[in-house]
Amino acid sequence: MTELLYLFDDSTECTASVLSCLPTGDGLYAVTLDRTIFHPQGGGQPSDIGTINNVSVVKVVHTPEAVLHLTDHEVAGEVVLKVNSEKRFLHSRLHSAGHIIGLVGDQLSWHATRGNHFPGEARVIFEPQDPASVKLVDCVQFQAQVNQIVTQAFARVLTENNGIRTVTWGNLPAYPCGGTHVKTLNEIGQVEIKKIKLKKGQITVSYALT
Ligand SMILES: [Zn+2]
Repeated sequence: MTELLYLFDDSTECTASVLSCLPTGDGLYAVTLDRTIFHPQGGGQPSDIGTINNVSVVKVVHTPEAVLHLTDHEVAGEVVLKVNSEKRFLHSRLHSAGHIIGLVGDQLSWHATRGNHFPGEARVIFEPQDPASVKLVDCVQFQAQVNQIVTQAFARVLTENNGIRTVTWGNLPAYPCGGTHVKTLNEIGQVEIKKIKLKKGQITVSYALT
C-alpha cells in the first residue's frame, strides 16, 4: 500500500522506501514505494515524471493494486524522490483550467463528462443538461467567462469525505478529483478557447494556456 502524499502535499522532493522493483519486460522497472509524491496518469492528466535516486521515472500509472513508477534502472532501499516541478506546474495549470471550463459549461447549460488535459491537446467534452434544448456556445463568450474566473486570486480548498477528495478554489463549486491543482487560481494564467465543436449532441471545448 502506497501513501499518496500528492493528494494533500505539493512537495516535489521527499524520501521513501522501495517496496518492490520488478522488470516489466520492455527494458523498464516497475517500482512500488511506501509513499509517493508522484501523481500517476489519470483523470485526463498526464503523470508526473522525475527521478528516484537520479534514476529516471518515465511514467507513473495507477493500477487497481498499486501505484507503479516506471524507471529505466533498478532502485532499492531508502530513496530520494524528485518530481519535475516545471512539468508538474504546467500539468496542474492545464488540469485546473479544465475544472473552470467545466464550471463555465455548467453555467451555460452543459455538463462536463470527460476531459483530456495533456499539453497540446487539452479539451473538455460536454453533454447538454437538457438534451431537448441544446444551446450553442460562442467561443469568445466562453473564453471571457473562463478568464473572468481564472484571474481571481482564489485559494485552493481540498477536503476529504469518506476517502473521496474534493477540490475547489474559494467559494466555487467543489468536484471530486484526484489530480494536481494550482494553489491559487490565477496561477493558471490566461486561457485560450481554441475551438468549440458540436457533434452528435456533444460539444468539445479545446483550449490552451497563453
Ligand atoms: Zn482536478
